[in-house]
Amino acid sequence: MRHLVWFRADLRVTDNPALYEATAGGAEVEAIYIDSPGQWQQHGRAPIQRDFLSRNLQALNEQLAHLGISLTVLTVDRFAEVPALLAEWLEERQFDALYANRELGIDERRRDKAVQQALTIPCRVYNGDCVVDHGSLTTRSGDMYKVFTPFAKSWLARVRASGYRFLPVPAAQGEPQSCTPLGLSGERISSEEWPAGEAAAAERLAQFCQSSLRDYGEQRDFPAENGTSSLSPYLALGVLSPNQCLAAMEYELEQLPFSRGEPGFVWLNELIWREFYRHLLVAFPRLSMERAFKPDTEALQWSRDDQGFRAWCEGQTGYPIVDAAMRCLAQTGWMHNRLRMIVASFLTKDLHIDWRRGEAWFMSTLIDGELAANNGGWQWAAGTGADAAPYFRVFNPSTQGERFDTNGDFIRRWVPELAGVPAKVIHAPHDWLDTHHPGHGYPKPIVDHARARLHAIAMFDALKDRE
Ligand code: FAD
Repeated sequence: MRHLVWFRADLRVTDNPALYEATAGGAEVEAIYIDSPGQWQQHGRAPIQRDFLSRNLQALNEQLAHLGISLTVLTVDRFAEVPALLAEWLEERQFDALYANRELGIDERRRDKAVQQALTIPCRVYNGDCVVDHGSLTTRSGDMYKVFTPFAKSWLARVRASGYRFLPVPAAQGEPQSCTPLGLSGERISSEEWPAGEAAAAERLAQFCQSSLRDYGEQRDFPAENGTSSLSPYLALGVLSPNQCLAAMEYELEQLPFSRGEPGFVWLNELIWREFYRHLLVAFPRLSMERAFKPDTEALQWSRDDQGFRAWCEGQTGYPIVDAAMRCLAQTGWMHNRLRMIVASFLTKDLHIDWRRGEAWFMSTLIDGELAANNGGWQWAAGTGADAAPYFRVFNPSTQGERFDTNGDFIRRWVPELAGVPAKVIHAPHDWLDTHHPGHGYPKPIVDHARARLHAIAMFDALKDRE
């Protein structure tokens, strides 16, 4: 038997169901990756993530070669060309079945359906990106949960009762092969700050579990600290699986923390948020189509303030925590979760700019950009999503800064104009700057938060008047 494994957002050999099943029973296995640079661009994904993808693909290539499996990269511009390409490629080669792990976005699902229709060999598709399979957790009436807490309860009950899967690296097929370097074309920005490959991801996971997992609940909200795992770039490309996270957590704590208050529970809860958004994406295809989860919020009257949007993107809003976060994103391709919430709230509730513009900006700059979490995070912040922040709770960017970057260490790292500003005025530095450094160049606040907050609430109240 000869099996073909199609790698996509699952760039690993550990706990990879498609690879594992394809190799089971002693079949001869080859692997492909299909690059679609035009689709990448259409999905607005970041050049730094493309570089990270390319480097991780090379790491996978080397690991597969070690297992005696060759990896071929095929290229088409768009997903629409994939079925014909695969059909033609397979015509000249004898394979008995195609193996792949499921992808969740609507374009990926349409592509996969077309591929299944175009091929004459069976396509076997697995769940490789969630601990609990999409669609398998439902309310009593059989629907997908729309609120996180009952979803999480159900998820925890399932994992407590049935455990989780952890598939080993398949046995080598033969002698290690030599492999030629792979590299993807297209615009790339160096991602060298992030070591590539599963070994690097596993090491980071182990280090996090040893040093920070127990204190995560207390440390995770402070961007100047290293309190979170920074594993998102690896999880987004499937270099690491969530089951691996659970296994590392269990190894460190000797058991999984199933109850609130147990050490490590808060981190597990974040992994459940990740699954919640992925299950939602499958259950509600409109989320892949730039549509709001709550249909009534489609009527919100967003502002078309291009100048405000530019100031937000460039970190020139005059709100230090927002500016530090946005400049950090521009320079590193990554942003701390607390800051993502603050800047998303600022764009939608202070500048009243459509969450879709923020979502797209994040996607085009993040090394960990992925549709489910990005869309989920943006719709949560904007008040348009499943289990979203209540519309009348608007983050105050100054008090958020005071609470989570009290001394201003994070701000000073990213906003050089504020380097000499004392901690007690760093979150509202303008008077101090005007007195001590006239001509400092740091912008005045581009909006008045108190007024902007009232306007945001009024935008949502106007929806009620339409009912
Ligand atoms: P940790 O705190 O160590 O958490 C571990 C893992 O759990 C993360 O790597 C991630 O995979 C998952 N996770 C944690 N928090 C969340 C969450 N709120 N929602 C979903 N998954 C979560 N995450 C992305 O991976 N890609 C995105 O494009 C993305 N866009 C976001 C946009 C907005 C507006 C917001 C508010 C959040 C977004 N997130 C996104 C979620 C979260 O901010 C990041 O996953 C997290 O900051 C990554 O850091 P970490 O790996 O240190 O996370």
